Amino acid sequence: MLLQTHSLGLVWSSLFGLLWGSFFNVCIFRLPEEKSIVWNRSHCRSCSTPLKWFHNIPILSFILLRGKCAFCGHRISIQYPLIEAVTAALFAGTWLHYGWSLAWIFYTYFVSSLLVITVIDLRHMIIPDELSLTGILIGVLASFFVQHITWWESLLGAALGGGIFMAIAMGYEKFARQEGLGGGDIKLLAMIGAWLGYQSILVVIVISSALGSVVGLSLMLLRKKTLKTAIPFGPFLALGAIVYLFWGEWIGRFLLPAVD
Ligand SMILES: [Zn+2]
Repeated sequence: MLLQTHSLGLVWSSLFGLLWGSFFNVCIFRLPEEKSIVWNRSHCRSCSTPLKWFHNIPILSFILLRGKCAFCGHRISIQYPLIEAVTAALFAGTWLHYGWSLAWIFYTYFVSSLLVITVIDLRHMIIPDELSLTGILIGVLASFFVQHITWWESLLGAALGGGIFMAIAMGYEKFARQEGLGGGDIKLLAMIGAWLGYQSILVVIVISSALGSVVGLSLMLLRKKTLKTAIPFGPFLALGAIVYLFWGEWIGRFLLPAVD
């Protein structure tokens, strides 16, 4: 019986994730390009033919159409099913963590913002304020409603996250005479702090810097990129935040055994 409710919860939360994922695909194309929401998903991006409802089923349509538009054969970006699948996984993971609760609703918003920010930052090297600043506000608001974090842990998290990165950015600019961390990264870490609390900041910085170094060095070796080639840091921060959300307590104990 317990196993049954468990699998049902996973199935339903994943289905919610699939539906929201296809909406996020629309947001991702729309936000930086200022395109209307309606145009994107209900028309082919290449031939503009209106799509039928069965061309819009998350993941399934992509597989059945073998990744091509049913009318003109233009390739559909793998980004569509990928984002739907990742959103489903994030929603299910958040459900495993919080169950059906207000916290689940709030934190699916948080992980969804992180996903959309990641893709926009990868594609355009920007993090829209609509996502990061709104995320800070909603994160602080959420802390009043959920039991996992207090409002002062949230506020301190936002201040600490933004503050540390602001200090690093100013120091780096002074010595290297070029921009290292963008303003978007500063606001993103403030947002993460608002949702995960001040306790998360150090762990998230360590995880994302480690991931960023590994990926940055690999890219340099593979494509002979120089040290100056900018890779967006937002995706690593987002990944660090998700790792902390799901495995933070365990990592905290492992990294900082003295604290507590
Ligand atoms: Zn087409």
